Amino acid sequence: MSNKDVLLEVKDLEVSFHTYAGEVKSVRGVNFTVNKGEALAIVGESGCGKSVTAQTLMRLIPTPPGIIKNGEILFNGTTDITKISEKQMEKIRGSEMGMIFQDPMTSLNPTMTIGNQIAEGLIKHQNMSKKAARTRALEMLKMVGINNPESRLAQYPHELSGGMRQRIMIAIALACSPKLLIADEPTTALDVTIQAQIMELMKNLQEKTNAAIILITHDLGVVAEMAQRVIVMYAGEVVEQGNVEDIFYNPQHPYTWGLLRSVPRMDTEHGDELVPIPGTPPDLFAPPVGCPFAARCPYAMEVCLEKDPDHFTISSTQSAACWLLHPDAPKVENPVSAGGVKNV
Ligand code: SF4
Repeated sequence: MSNKDVLLEVKDLEVSFHTYAGEVKSVRGVNFTVNKGEALAIVGESGCGKSVTAQTLMRLIPTPPGIIKNGEILFNGTTDITKISEKQMEKIRGSEMGMIFQDPMTSLNPTMTIGNQIAEGLIKHQNMSKKAARTRALEMLKMVGINNPESRLAQYPHELSGGMRQRIMIAIALACSPKLLIADEPTTALDVTIQAQIMELMKNLQEKTNAAIILITHDLGVVAEMAQRVIVMYAGEVVEQGNVEDIFYNPQHPYTWGLLRSVPRMDTEHGDELVPIPGTPPDLFAPPVGCPFAARCPYAMEVCLEKDPDHFTISSTQSAACWLLHPDAPKVENPVSAGGVKNV
């Protein structure tokens, strides 16, 4: 992949929150890239830093108490999101990046009509006339599958169902044809049938618009459906990344093994055993020395308690941070590729 294909590059990102109890180190040295037009999923248990990472990419973490302590977020090769003014950021947010949140009610304006909410960004960031923005708003409502779009333009968010509100959020996020769409657990608040419809819609729109997507989710079924690449986060760090096939067919990190065995997936059959990962993630007020997964890892060795593992390259598309990948480490059987979990 050449540099001209890279849309977003995150380098050594560290984000903390200062609280009365002390500093919570939510994101600890995260590195990844997103290529133009690709769908990247960030997965992990709650509190692993995936949502904070997503919000930091759009500079939406409240500061204070949040602070970007270190790192760069290069958008389009040159713009460092961590350094630009709020005014420049606002412009990027309205035109080049869009975000879809878990609960559309918290991000839609309850006092503004749907039509005005879609048109607002177009008038502000794309200098469209009111008339042109209205036409585009109507087009967007049709595109996201809202029926009676003409009459919906004059309605308010509370008059619509949860699924429809999420479609409106997608319409707002895509109205300005962003290069990057960040979706943070976009379907968690919806019932299962609507979830499938919204994911299908996002997939179709992504193919149509060629926008890159960062999808934050704990649902591995959604990952298999939507993403081309996957980042696995644990305790504020990236512990494994690879193509979707790498992660499902040949995962290398014990935490990824645990995740795959612990959550139901679309191919989980009745009677298949789900194995929860024992224990809880470490306290990010005082992250442990060594590998953050050591306290829960059945393969932990002495070195794991002393030194944070290096990132080992497995192939041109996959890497993982685990001492088991060191050439001198004892060989253990991969419980996932050995058939412990069925493949997608
Ligand atoms: Fe387990 Fe050690 Fe690998 Fe961490 S580095 S995941 S403790 S084997």
